[in-house]
Formats: sequence, structure tokens, C-alpha cells
Amino acid sequence: MSTPVIPTKKNPETTTSGESTKTMKGLVYGGPGKIEWKEIAKPKIEKSTDALVKILKTTICGTDLGILHGKTPTCVPGTTLGHEGVGIVEEVGASVRNFKKGDHVIISCITSDGTCEYCKKQMYAHCEDGGWILGHLINGTQAEYVRIPHADNSMYPIPKGADEEALVMLSDILPTGHEIGVLNGCVKPGDTIAIVGAGPIGMSVLLTSQFYSPSKIYVIDLDENRLKMAKTFGATDTINSGTEDAVKKILAETKDGVDVAIEAVGAPATFDICQHIVKPGGHIANIGVHGKSVDLQIQNLWIRNITITMGLVNTNTTPMLLKTVSSGKIEPKKLITHHFKKDEILRAYEVFGNPSKENAMKVIIEF
Ligand SMILES: [Zn+2]
Ligand SMILES: [Zn+2]
Repeated sequence: MSTPVIPTKKNPETTTSGESTKTMKGLVYGGPGKIEWKEIAKPKIEKSTDALVKILKTTICGTDLGILHGKTPTCVPGTTLGHEGVGIVEEVGASVRNFKKGDHVIISCITSDGTCEYCKKQMYAHCEDGGWILGHLINGTQAEYVRIPHADNSMYPIPKGADEEALVMLSDILPTGHEIGVLNGCVKPGDTIAIVGAGPIGMSVLLTSQFYSPSKIYVIDLDENRLKMAKTFGATDTINSGTEDAVKKILAETKDGVDVAIEAVGAPATFDICQHIVKPGGHIANIGVHGKSVDLQIQNLWIRNITITMGLVNTNTTPMLLKTVSSGKIEPKKLITHHFKKDEILRAYEVFGNPSKENAMKVIIEF
């Protein structure tokens, strides 16, 4: 028998130079104030640990608005934005073991190789070959396809029958609220806590803090609609800091402040509220991304034995959170106020960027 001759047919998807000619639509950052929904090259597997994922649903984060407003110079023009979403695995590299084509997955906002010094300590945010790179240093999820490096450690399988829309909240906001707000703040049964800022992150703190049964949860914001929503999510007390002095009110109503004050905005004024309402021995857990320094009242705080924490999410609690969402213990789907088709993504940015006017919390973009 002769050896069959395999005809050398040119792959129709590649040019003579071997470059992909396949394109897709993606949301591309064009420099401060500029984003465009346009035709771009479809990503390919670059390393054996990569997965190529077809996006089903994505969302917009406050961090994306930060990039758009020029607060993140490390994100260069030409980058596809987005670090949250769910999708279907289209292709995997040769060494990916946990996923195969056709699997439905949650994409984590944090990429991690699982092997470096920081990963071994579950500090995935500081992975030496990862961290927050999606939609920041490499192309992100606000596109028809995304390449996920270190796929085995940077995605989570979606259980059969799960509500995929709710799971988009697991890419970033729920683990961020839980780890950087609730766990760093050491919320304990019976505690009185205050959440300053009722945006998606503050709401995620509100939902996940209730795992630990605080007895009183204050939510402070300027937006009456958000405060109303907070009440339905379990806030025991809400304060509109535009019409009331939040510090005075909390100090009058509690013996000497709250056990845990959680900053979920990222502004000097909201950090200042936290340092004035925390009681001796209490915690200030800062989640907000600050663009400038705050006035730290260290001369008052030291003698009150205050612990201050801050950080970038590690997403090490995502598997636990996935179970609580799957079982219906928490319902992050309630955070979704708007739905858009992929071609309406610029409108989605407008709505998400004007939350008071649009009465928006989290938006979903469907592909
Ligand atoms: Zn995010
Ligand atoms: Zn690592």
C-alpha cells in the first residue's frame, strides 16, 4: 500500500503570510473619551495554555469608565475593553486540561497561571504572568471572541441549568465586594456595618455581607433610587448623604460608630466618612479605586486601634460564590437593570455612565 498523499490545500482562513483574515466586532479604546464598536481581527490561540472563548454576555464596569476617562494610562489605545463575561469555549490550546470546545464558562477578571509565588498564596491579583490584564493590557471581553491566557486557572465552568446572566456578576463585582469589602473588613455576626456607595460594588458588599449576619447594615449614597434598591437587598438603614449628615446620624444612632466601614466609591469624601464612623477596634475596608490621595486622619485613628485594608480582588472566593448563586442563596441578577444587543454597546456605555439619570445599576450586553 502506498502512503496516501495529503493534498496541500491552503487554509482558507489564512493569508500567504499565515495571518488570520478572520474578523469580528469589538469595542476598542481609542484614547481618553474615545471608544468605537468596530471590525477587528479575531483572536487566535497564541500559547498552549490559552482558550478562545465566544462571548455570550458581557457587561461594563466602573473600571472601564475609568479607562475611558483617561484614569488608566497603562491601557493603551487600540485595546479591546472588558474583563467580565460568560461564553462558550471555541478552541483550547494543547495543554489546557480543565476545558474543551463547547464548555460554557465564566471568565474571571483576574488571569492567573496558578504556579507563581503569588498564585501559591492565592494572591491571583498579583500573578507574575497575569493579574488584571483583560481589557487592560491585553484585549478584553467586550467583543465577539476573547483569548483567555492560562485558561485552566482563569475561567470557571458553568453548572448545567445555571442562569448565565446572573453569573456575569461573578467575573468581578461579587468577588470584589466579598473579598475586598466583607472579608478584608472582617464582618462578623452581630456587627454593625456601613457601606459607603451603593453602586454595583457597594451592592455586592451588601449581598455578600449577609453571609456573616451583621445585625445592622447602613448604606450611604447620594442617589435615592439606589438607596431604595439597597433596602430591597437587605440594608437595614439608608442615608442620603446629600440631604443628611451621614457621620452625625451614624454616631448619634450607634454607641460609638460602626464595626466595619466599607468604602465603595474611591473618592476622598467617602473615605473621610469611613474614618469618622468607625468605632474603636473597627475596620475600614477600602474597595474604591482612588485617583488621588486621601486625607488620612492617622492622629485620631491610631489610638482607636483601627485596621485599614485595601486591595485588588484575587477572585479566590469565586468558586464559593458560584455555589451560593447556583443555590439561590444570593441573587445577583437583581443588580441587572438594563439589557442591550451587542450593536447597542455604545448606548450601553451611555446608560451605565449616567446611572442617576438612567436609573442604572449593572447592564448586560448580549451577543
Ligand atoms: Zn470590573
Ligand atoms: Zn501566578
